[in-house]
Amino acid sequence: MSQSFSRRDALKGIALVVGAAGAVRSIQPAHADAPPHLSPSDPTAQALGYTDNAKSVDAKAFPTYQPGQMCSTCMQLQGNAGDPWRPCNIFAGKLVNANGWCKVWVKKT
Ligand code: SF4
Repeated sequence: MSQSFSRRDALKGIALVVGAAGAVRSIQPAHADAPPHLSPSDPTAQALGYTDNAKSVDAKAFPTYQPGQMCSTCMQLQGNAGDPWRPCNIFAGKLVNANGWCKVWVKKT
């Protein structure tokens, strides 16, 4: 009798652990493992004139900028086409905005 009771307790314990693990997993953001977004205020981003919206580039401050240049047309951009935030060879460990720009922009071939 006590052995049967112990087995039932063990099964309850397993069910609780599995349920708790599922609950923890379900409250994590979908991209919990994704690198953080690059902030324009990041020191390296500032040094390279990064913005997450190419349309906001100050053409006087960055005379190499031409309309139409953006991360999605830059050869340094990695990741999957169509993703709004993607890895960049220049900013390791961060994601840049596909609509962003920095002065390292080089036309994708
Ligand atoms: S190097 Fe290219 S992809 Fe990377 S932030 Fe600058 S413009 Fe965007």
